Amino acid sequence: MNRKKQYLKIKKETPKKREARKRVSDFYPTYYIFTTEEACTQSLRCIKCPVDLLKGIKSEFNFCRTGCPLNNKIPIWIEKVKNKDIKGAFEISNETSPFPEILGMVCPQDVLCQGGCTLSKTISGSVAIGAIEVYLNEQAFKMGLKPDYGENIKKIGKRVAIIGSGPSSMSCATFLLRGGVEVDMFEKSDRPGGLLTYGIPNFKIKKDVILRRFRWMQEAGMNLHLNSNIETPEQIKRMMDDYDAIFVGAGAPRGRGARMKNEDAHGVYNVMDILKHAQKRVFEDFYESILEGKNVIVIGGGDSAMDAVRTSVRMKAKSVRCAYRRDETNMPGSHKEVVNAREEGVIFEFYTAPKEVIIDKDRYVRGLICQKTKLGSSDHTGRRKIEIIENSDFTLDCDVIILALGFDNIVFPWYDDAQINTGKWGNIIVDENKRTSNAKIYAGGDVVRGADLAVTAAADGKKAAFSILEDFNKNK
Ligand code: SF4
Repeated sequence: MNRKKQYLKIKKETPKKREARKRVSDFYPTYYIFTTEEACTQSLRCIKCPVDLLKGIKSEFNFCRTGCPLNNKIPIWIEKVKNKDIKGAFEISNETSPFPEILGMVCPQDVLCQGGCTLSKTISGSVAIGAIEVYLNEQAFKMGLKPDYGENIKKIGKRVAIIGSGPSSMSCATFLLRGGVEVDMFEKSDRPGGLLTYGIPNFKIKKDVILRRFRWMQEAGMNLHLNSNIETPEQIKRMMDDYDAIFVGAGAPRGRGARMKNEDAHGVYNVMDILKHAQKRVFEDFYESILEGKNVIVIGGGDSAMDAVRTSVRMKAKSVRCAYRRDETNMPGSHKEVVNAREEGVIFEFYTAPKEVIIDKDRYVRGLICQKTKLGSSDHTGRRKIEIIENSDFTLDCDVIILALGFDNIVFPWYDDAQINTGKWGNIIVDENKRTSNAKIYAGGDVVRGADLAVTAAADGKKAAFSILEDFNKNK
């Protein structure tokens, strides 16, 4: 059959899932990685749109490459997978992406590369890009291949300090190492990886996959400083003296509140506290579960809320509900996570807004008073506004409430001294090349955008690394 028509013959497959009743008892990944046969067969579905012939030319059409924030050379590595050239696919995949096997797991592909795939507009559905990307990299690692971290590049005699170790920082470090720069990374936590390590559950991305990348970066010469909180003007001043440039990838770690009565009660947690607690159990730092036997309500409808409900199930909560103000079709997170949560026994309360935490005399949570909502007119983004229905109060019994309502930036005390301009949400302002108002400081990821995707943070870190290298070159 004509290659261009293979997609009509071969059905789109996604990676197989573990059975819900088995996966709820542990934190192992939900999805299996494609087998060689599955990956090669799915690769045949790619119709090689002309976008890779238009390299570098902006197209008004949306293709997989334009949908990917890293502009990955997707059709080229898919062709190599089809031909079983794993080494070639691996080199091209890692040329543009700092950690493709991680992003292939955590990206919401439906709105990125796969959303741009020409086949996504047809009944047969997009190419399974993310799953093929994970397969080809894991297969390459099994074959003993390692990503390039500039081991054979001559050092250029420049030093860069990176604040934070999340996706933007990992990406910036990767491309700086490849450019022959000495990198020192400073992480306030006890393990590197930021949100990838402590904010995304092990059942979505295995922690050893994240730590493997750090091991390789350290083998390539990167100095990783854990438990190193950089936040005072004095620390930054010292850094400015010691390094040729600084990259800030400190994220947006402050969880938002719900502004409801008694929100400070015992048993109300921010989502990051619960996710970090669960990851620490995965690392076997301790074994107790603060949710065992509890009736849990998670407030929110995004990916963090889905991570929290699915984590609560695995932490042996007695019951788990998700309270969300809109309906299922208007949930901001990935639909497949809602499906996974439901399979695992989570109950959804749609059109439900929290009003007040019911507490006992010792201020422990005993329930949640909610109000019913309906969708009103659209706001300037086209999203329907929420209207509260009068006299619709009702109570949900619970003893734990988890707030998963998004994240805000922290305004660090050193910004003023270093003359860093910030926006009204406390985010650092940068130009299109990730340069801040201080000529020696660059920034990217959530610290600039507010809470966003790992892949947009990775794209920022990469852009910043290229700007730093360009500026070093100019000032030689
Ligand atoms: Fe798709 Fe994300 Fe991979 Fe880009 S990085 S190809 S958006 S899965």
